[in-house]
Amino acid sequence: MTGAPQTSVFSHSHHDHQACITEAIDRAERRCADRNLRLTPIRRRVLELIWENHQPTKAYDLLDKINVERGHAAPPTVYRALDFLLNAGLVHKIESQNAFIGCDADHERNQPKFLICRNCGRAAEIQSPEIDNVIASEARDAGFVVDHQTIEVDGLCAACAEELQPTDSAL
Ligand SMILES: [Zn+2]
Ligand SMILES: [Zn+2]
Ligand SMILES: [Zn+2]
Repeated sequence: MTGAPQTSVFSHSHHDHQACITEAIDRAERRCADRNLRLTPIRRRVLELIWENHQPTKAYDLLDKINVERGHAAPPTVYRALDFLLNAGLVHKIESQNAFIGCDADHERNQPKFLICRNCGRAAEIQSPEIDNVIASEARDAGFVVDHQTIEVDGLCAACAEELQPTDSAL
């Protein structure tokens, strides 16, 4: 396969991350307006902090940052903001790391799936309804009721693979 990767999440250069953040906040504003939800200042700030990079963020890191900014922050305030963002589908939880990542898609309720680089820590969401369909149909055939589905694929992104094994793995 040649050409640019389908996601810019893993690109270590030539990546206008401010654009990612702006888009994420715009998306959140639209989503909240559509659903009559309120993107309060704390919810917006938590979302911005999660979007600071493409690496999953731990709840206690969010808490630390909000604390520094506001001088104090009651943990429940931050956890409630996180819950709001999760329920609105604006962030997802990376179960294997107990951490949170911004959603860069317009889906509301799908089962998020991720490629996670073990070197740089970036996580990219896979948009592939086929995977959900296959699991749903396998579960149906087995008479199995799915509560929760976690698909997190660990590995190396192209940039890290190149960094770690220069030249000799050229295609
Ligand atoms: Zn970005
Ligand atoms: Zn998503
Ligand atoms: Zn990487």
